[in-house]
Amino acid sequence: MPPRHLIIGAGTAGLNCVRTIREEGGGASEITLVAAERPYSRMVLPYYLDRSIAESHVFTATAATLAAWKVTTHIGKRAARLNPQANTLTLDDGTTLEYDDCLIATGSRAVKAPVPGADLPGVHSFWTLDQAREVIAGIGHGSHVVMVGAGFIAFTILNSILSLGAKLTIVEIAPRILPRMVDETGAVVVEAWLKKHGVGILTGATLARIEEARGKKRLKFKKGSDLVADLVIMATGIKPNLEWLQGSGIRINHGVLVDDHLRSSVPNVYAAGDVAEGKDGVTGAPVVHAIEPTAMEHGRVVGANMAGRDVAYRGSLNMNIVEVCRLDVASFGAWDEPKTEAFTGLRPDRSAYRKLCWSGDRLTGAIIIGRAGDIWSTNDVGMLKGLVQTGTRLGAWKEHLRRNPFDVKPAFIASRTTARLLPETILGRPSQAPELATTVTT
Ligand SMILES: Cc1cc2nc3c(=O)[nH]c(=O)nc-3n(C[C@H](O)[C@H](O)[C@H](O)COP(=O)(O)OP(=O)(O)OC[C@H]3O[C@@H](n4cnc5c(N)ncnc54)[C@H](O)[C@@H]3O)c2cc1C
Repeated sequence: MPPRHLIIGAGTAGLNCVRTIREEGGGASEITLVAAERPYSRMVLPYYLDRSIAESHVFTATAATLAAWKVTTHIGKRAARLNPQANTLTLDDGTTLEYDDCLIATGSRAVKAPVPGADLPGVHSFWTLDQAREVIAGIGHGSHVVMVGAGFIAFTILNSILSLGAKLTIVEIAPRILPRMVDETGAVVVEAWLKKHGVGILTGATLARIEEARGKKRLKFKKGSDLVADLVIMATGIKPNLEWLQGSGIRINHGVLVDDHLRSSVPNVYAAGDVAEGKDGVTGAPVVHAIEPTAMEHGRVVGANMAGRDVAYRGSLNMNIVEVCRLDVASFGAWDEPKTEAFTGLRPDRSAYRKLCWSGDRLTGAIIIGRAGDIWSTNDVGMLKGLVQTGTRLGAWKEHLRRNPFDVKPAFIASRTTARLLPETILGRPSQAPELATTVTT
């Protein structure tokens, strides 16, 4: 009997797993895909919001592609109960599916601030395609949008909102913006830049309630004046979709705990992406990295293991990169460890900031802020990511970077980091086209 693989979730992790099983030549195996939504990429939704792409371009696999990959689909169905003893999954319509191995890749969902009025019409999250459609329908030229939350996801849609001609005010409960992405100095640089570009910013502001106000929304705070908005977007955090695993016996902490092969506490049940709590490649600690590269790498490792290979995962890299009003803002690795040795450099005249964090002569984390197109920042984003990811020993270049934190290029070249990065593919081989049952054009 060919092995029966069950993939739950058709986001980045789930689809990369399916594709990798077929790439690895597992053509004979049976693949069943269960997903609450049609497969699409959340990461491209900001480009749909500002109309850079049509809605058809957010989808990542059509029905024809999945048929060509010989995938049996249950799209629009939710996983309701997993029974690892019986190797079965029950769906919300009562269907029971059997598997030999399965992948939990149900991602996460947006969570709104728990205040009265959060569920009023016109108060949105921006996480799913349906939510993106609602926001698109509600924003117009000249609308006042209030975004509650100044974290990474809020920043991914900031440019789109402005490019639609809307006025934007960002409200953050913490004393500064991007509290989990950059340090205090970095936040000051980004805040000054955004204010210069017409974005209103209110930090240390605790939202108390949202009320209807003659077709608009009135936001009331614990302290300070009210804000009146045409549309409110809550970018106040996400939560992994794990409730359906209750009673399954699978070990869960913040996410499903996985080993270096991405197996859960039940060996034939894997987890990947936003729902998985796996190894951080820099610190080695278990962590949920709810970002696209982790979901992609996890999915590929699980796919290879399901196809019969024995692939251990090196661990994921904490990484956030965003460009707002032509300012690049990025951080990698353990940039926030209080006891770490760190060098910083600040050039307010160029809105440029660097923080380089060390363990001995290896870079363990970095923050980079600088104007997009400024050769300093654009090149350094890639080079510092490479240095943190590979943990390359920099020897005497460490002292060079202490004196010149903006001069990364010579250290990157001299340490031959590119040569170390090139063979570092996740599966130890170049990507290839998966086996297809028939040739299709999608
Ligand atoms: C607007 C936006 C911008 C972003 N930008 C970036 C970025 O620039 N860089 C970056 O690294 N990351 C970004 N992200 C985050 C990135 O999209 C996620 O980390 C990534 O999608 C996680 O992939 P995943 O496969 O784990 O989960 P998802 O892509 O969320 O997929 C989960 C799948 O599971 C399905 N599902 C959920 N519950 C069930 C259930 N009970 N039964 C069956 N199916 C279920 C869903 O329908 C979906 O198919 C962005 C996210 C958003 C919303």
